[in-house]
Amino acid sequence: ARGLHRRFGGRRGLFRTEPTVHAVNDVSIAVRPGETFAIVGESGCGKSTLGRLLLRLIEPNEGRVLYKGRDITDISKGEMRKLRREMQIIFQDPFASLNPRMSVSDIVGEPVRLHGLARGGQVNERVAELLRTVGLRPEFAARYPHEFSGGQRQRIGIARALASEPDLVIGDEPVSALDVSVQAQVINLLEELKDRLGLTLVIVAHDLAVIRHMSDRVAVMYLGEMVELAGVDELYDNPLHPYTQALLKAIPSPTVGERGPRELLQGDVPSPTALPSGCRFHTRCPHARPRCSSEHPSLQAVEGGRRVACHFWREIADAGASAPVLAS
Ligand code: SF4
Ligand code: MG
Repeated sequence: ARGLHRRFGGRRGLFRTEPTVHAVNDVSIAVRPGETFAIVGESGCGKSTLGRLLLRLIEPNEGRVLYKGRDITDISKGEMRKLRREMQIIFQDPFASLNPRMSVSDIVGEPVRLHGLARGGQVNERVAELLRTVGLRPEFAARYPHEFSGGQRQRIGIARALASEPDLVIGDEPVSALDVSVQAQVINLLEELKDRLGLTLVIVAHDLAVIRHMSDRVAVMYLGEMVELAGVDELYDNPLHPYTQALLKAIPSPTVGERGPRELLQGDVPSPTALPSGCRFHTRCPHARPRCSSEHPSLQAVEGGRRVACHFWREIADAGASAPVLAS
């Protein structure tokens, strides 16, 4: 994706103008085939919007989306429908995303039929195979979504996403609606499927703890902008951006235990309808200086293929302020 922008609202009425939400601002990313690429940030940071822009479920105001080297920004609906088979999404809420009036067999079988991947009785065989793939009993095909737990529903959602034999799967916070006890199971399932089926995975998450063990690279988003991009180990061991540092400090550390210093970020994310001037993080950044509120930091390339958008990242790193609290 190159230079993606997406705004919502801003319509002019007779008496008032709707506020414009700047959801995604000039984001460029290159997801590599076969990798797990995580997009992380608090809610309202534009990460779900970015995921949908990549799949062209919504249109960008500016910027291009390329898939396997082909510019798909302006392709026709018909062509996009064909491509849709290769690109799938797993939604956040397994309670809202499955049609309650459809049986599991119809939910999972629909993409198989739609894309002509099987016919007649073979569709049911394929559904049974997909259910087994996600760790569910094939007999479940006759049941309806309300008969399942959250974890099982998310497995059904994954089976549906896999039904069209995609190459690229985007998981929009695929485990955040689930009980903590089943989150790890679903994450492990996604990892295993990714390896077995050779998928490219993009995982959207609000929490760095969830994605650590499954990701290859991580993009950290703040108020619609990418503020840091790094390999997962570099990011956890040596976060460069103050926002990434704060997100890591918010993870409970197993060695410090429950009484430990769990530094949480000050205040809420500012509204994306009224963006702070200069560096968008300056209203919450513990390192902010006068320059930060007047000058917008660009995303600069640093050693090791990393990227960071902070005027003072090197000074902050040299001062040792980036020592992560997280123990691995
Ligand atoms: Fe903090 Fe300034 Fe860096 Fe923004 S540019 S992250 S406010 S130090
Ligand atoms: Mg979201």
